[in-house]
Amino acid sequence: SINLYSALRAAFPLDLDGTAIEAATPAGGWLHYTWRDLERGSARIANLLASLELPAGSRIAVQVEKSVEALMLYLATLRAGHVYLPLNTAYQSGEIEYFVGNAEPAVVVCTPVNFGWVSRIAFAAGTQQVYTLDDERGGSLLERAVHFSDEHEPAARGADDLAAILYTSGTTGRSKGAMLTHGNLLTNARVLQDYWGWRPGDVLIHALPIFHVHGLFVASHGALLNGSKMIWFAKFDPRAVIDAMPRASVFMGVPTLYVRMLADARLTREAAAQMRLFISGSAPLLIETFRQWQERTGHTILERYGMSETIMLTSNPYGPDARHGGQHERRGGTVGFPLPGVGLRVMDDGGSPLAAGETGHIQVRGPNVFKGYWRMPEKTAEEFTADGWFRTGDVGLVDARGYVTIVGRSKDLIISGGYNVYPAEVEAAINELPGVAESAVVGVPHPDFGEVGVAVLVARAGAQPDPQAILAALKSQMANYKVPKQCFIAGELPRNTMGKVQKNLLREQHKALFA
Ligand code: ATP
Ligand code: MG
Repeated sequence: SINLYSALRAAFPLDLDGTAIEAATPAGGWLHYTWRDLERGSARIANLLASLELPAGSRIAVQVEKSVEALMLYLATLRAGHVYLPLNTAYQSGEIEYFVGNAEPAVVVCTPVNFGWVSRIAFAAGTQQVYTLDDERGGSLLERAVHFSDEHEPAARGADDLAAILYTSGTTGRSKGAMLTHGNLLTNARVLQDYWGWRPGDVLIHALPIFHVHGLFVASHGALLNGSKMIWFAKFDPRAVIDAMPRASVFMGVPTLYVRMLADARLTREAAAQMRLFISGSAPLLIETFRQWQERTGHTILERYGMSETIMLTSNPYGPDARHGGQHERRGGTVGFPLPGVGLRVMDDGGSPLAAGETGHIQVRGPNVFKGYWRMPEKTAEEFTADGWFRTGDVGLVDARGYVTIVGRSKDLIISGGYNVYPAEVEAAINELPGVAESAVVGVPHPDFGEVGVAVLVARAGAQPDPQAILAALKSQMANYKVPKQCFIAGELPRNTMGKVQKNLLREQHKALFA
């Protein structure tokens, strides 16, 4: 048996009275949770879940604000051998209805203020129990759990048994439930512990949501599996994170968090002097952010790439990578090397492998690749090749040195007059032009060309770039079929909670431009 909880528990320090989590309170104070608190708190909840005598494979769906108790609920679900199903706190009733209807969870845990409508949806979908949990240790979940024993023997689970269902971010369409096993999660966490050089004494600043791969798995597992303390923020506040840096060594963030910290003058070389490692992922990190971070703090952000279906796939090297001639450069604009154990290949439209430097579809395999989409056997079958590789839906290349670059998603690819246009290439050129902070290029229908690109850009503070001048500048730099036919200035790009640009919204907005 390899219950993931048992593996994490085995990494707890011998002194269980040491601090495992220092959680910032809304009032500006700190709550200290010991390793014993995590062990006992999750045991009580696991015993409560066990008392319900749920069938094997039961889903525990959770939509609550971030708190340490919510993390305990995750650990308790693993211990009890059930399947954890976290939901984005931003989801409203229509979305919850879809997820709960699709997943049919045996137990739903929600925020007390949402109990009315969530429980109505849940009971209609056959849910047995609805508990509540707020971010100040209130709610029926803990009220019940406190009556149960604080000892619990983790349920026997095999590597192939489900541990969690993670719904994808829904950037390209309706969210799909990715089924992840105890084995998927544990092997990936162990690979990352080694590849990122986790060491005794590391302290992680945890400021990400815990309903997503990044915060729940990469960040939490990383710290727990290393017996490392976490400094825990329910919400990201640039100033609070910068203030915590002298007491920490590792930070993980989505690109927007780095941009927001750079906007704070308190971010200095001195403030970041104690830090060992800054990691970015979930969305592309602008090369400019990468450079500014280097200049301001002296640290080189390590960018990595992954997804709900596979957890982490590639990473820039932390130290010399013997598999790649000892290269150790963290190259901005790339996502680094496939992680040990991960196979990655780039294929053309016809399914033949491409040479180094050529752009195509990224396919992967390895012990980290999920079991399939929950209740979507056809979709699952479509996304795997006949020889067992998973189609990531991302387009990219591997250069001669082995570094992987993501240039976009296959769904965002623009085919204009029969030519492939990679939005990322055009966006990178636009971003280099004066007065531009960032941009997004999307394809819209066009009567002559089939599709053409439309650029939406955000101006730098105080700048007023001229859309016509932007297009003229691009014309002098790249083939005409790549140049967007229209350019708009916007206050900001539409982003979802994980900082991903929602290109489907931009496409929708501009779809009738040339109709
Ligand atoms: P959906 O599959 O529902 O459309 P999604 O793909 O955005 O949503 P996630 O699984 O949360 O849902 O995100 C994975 C995707 O995020 C990857 O396929 C990739 O496109 C993107 N991504 C992750 N890390 C990086 C990175 N470092 N650089 C560029 N893109 C990244
Ligand atoms: Mg996806």
